[in-house]
Amino acid sequence: MTALKPHLIATILGVVWVAVAPYVASAFTITLMNYIGIGAIVALGLVLLTGLGGLTSFGQAALVGIGAYSTAWLTVKVGLSPWLGLVLALIMTGGVALLVGFITLRVGGHYLPLSTIAWGIAIYFLFANIPGLGQHDGIAGIPPISIAGWSFASNSAVYYLIWIALGFSMVGISHLLDSREGRAVRSLRGGETMLASVGVDLFRMRLIIFVIAALLAGIAGWLYAHMNRFVSPSPFEVRPSIEYLLMAMSGGAGSVYGSVIGATLVTLLKDKIQNVLPYLSKNAGQLEIIVFSVLLIVLLQYARGGVVSILKRIWPVAATLPRIGSVGLSKRQQPQRGQPLLEVNELTKRFGGLVAVNKVSFKLATGEILALIGPNGAGKSTMFNLITGALKSDGGTATFLGADITNHAQRKIAIGGIGRTFQHVKLRPNMSVLDNVLIGTYARTRAGFVSGALRLDRQEDAEAVAEAMRQLERVGLADKALEPAGSLPLGSQRIVEVARALATDPILLMLDEPAAGLRRQEKDQLGQLLRNLRSEGVTILLVEHDMDFVMGLVDRAVVMVFGSKLIDGTPAEVRGSPQVQEAYLGGVA
Ligand code: ADP
Ligand code: MG
Repeated sequence: MTALKPHLIATILGVVWVAVAPYVASAFTITLMNYIGIGAIVALGLVLLTGLGGLTSFGQAALVGIGAYSTAWLTVKVGLSPWLGLVLALIMTGGVALLVGFITLRVGGHYLPLSTIAWGIAIYFLFANIPGLGQHDGIAGIPPISIAGWSFASNSAVYYLIWIALGFSMVGISHLLDSREGRAVRSLRGGETMLASVGVDLFRMRLIIFVIAALLAGIAGWLYAHMNRFVSPSPFEVRPSIEYLLMAMSGGAGSVYGSVIGATLVTLLKDKIQNVLPYLSKNAGQLEIIVFSVLLIVLLQYARGGVVSILKRIWPVAATLPRIGSVGLSKRQQPQRGQPLLEVNELTKRFGGLVAVNKVSFKLATGEILALIGPNGAGKSTMFNLITGALKSDGGTATFLGADITNHAQRKIAIGGIGRTFQHVKLRPNMSVLDNVLIGTYARTRAGFVSGALRLDRQEDAEAVAEAMRQLERVGLADKALEPAGSLPLGSQRIVEVARALATDPILLMLDEPAAGLRRQEKDQLGQLLRNLRSEGVTILLVEHDMDFVMGLVDRAVVMVFGSKLIDGTPAEVRGSPQVQEAYLGGVA
């Protein structure tokens, strides 16, 4: 056993404090802690949505309101049990999030913040104007929650309910983040192309985290209504939404612990400000929103990582290797060697007036290694993006395994068996090398959000880890598995991308300048790896500038110049071509 780590000690102290607080602290402290707990549940959703997913919601308080009003209406006006109120609260918040998310997330992530402001305000006015919901007077006389005749009416009883709900939510979310879907959530920031290239459905991903955040807000609203025994519109407008965001951001944008730390900071700060502001201005409420808005902006500018990232700098947490399965993931059947695999026919791409790819055609048979070569700007990377669906073409077709894939969704093409790397490396630098490679197994594994949160995915996840470690061993980076990917030299980062592409179990592996930045010996290792892959039946298409490396490796090469194909042939034919010597290779050949 190693010595107790500071974060472990802090966790134990925190849990002990929460457990004994009602016996030692004042009633006022417990009331504050009730608000902290409820705020932390909402902030936890925003950790997922905003901190990790990069989607900002200014409507979270409105969702809390929907949860609170749902249960208030059902228990007071209809007279049903608070537990049915919880069910209604979850249905309503989840339903609203599904609807709003479906409309706005389709168009693109950045429409969400705007729309959340709009519907946040709209819902507030609904609460204030629907007679059945009591208008500005709200709904009073909400019953306390009770289990088997035992009532959570007292401040300290509802306190335990709140903190137990928070505890379960935190455990669930932290398990989720350590699962297949969670790794994809953690990768959401930093560009969509990489995730699509391993088969992640980004729209679905964003919609689900939006719904999860809404459900947490719904639970918070339910707890709030039965704690307060009264609801009115004002706690659910845009100002408290900003406070929830501030909680998530100040604690630590991407950290489960951060939600509690942030909720504590903001709640205590708010309490202090409310004591001071009335001395400064008669419009204390207005001043408060200004103070919090300024704090939010300062935080976003200067301390994105929040308190948790500062703590992590003081007490770094050493990563440990997860459990490694024994069988790995099942592999797909590779097609017969020699069978036509990829056929590109007159593919064309224009960027404004520039024709980056001009009616280029070539064929690739299963088991071949084909190089796409040509000077900088010839259109090689653009060709890669056309084939993989990362760019839409302006003409021509691409066929893979006999089926048309022209302009198909990137994700579908990836799932179909094309794995790729990028000329401009697309790793998640703060995630470990292992986690980056694990993302490659996404389309080969099944575990969803629920099984991730409930830890029902452990066997599959261990096998995915086994698979990722096998690919890392293959490329010679297994000893770097736990290091942050961004700490590796750029050449090695390219090789991590190769491992990630291999983890997709591709039929066709497309590598854009994999050897750039490698030393001689590393290039030789890469060459040997590619030959081994070919002998296993994997087909390879690569862009490379090092002619010695390419010509000793490939079966055929396609030469592109200024967007057009010059020739296509064996290395000997390419080297021998006077056109190539003149246009591109110059004196090299
Ligand atoms: P290569 O990979 O062969 O070096 P690229 O495919 O990256 O070449 O680029 C081909 C041409 O298309 C270049 O002139 C480049 O500037 C241009 N280009 C590439 N991507 C874009 C883009 N997204 N927008 C505008 N021009 C682009
Ligand atoms: Mg390129």
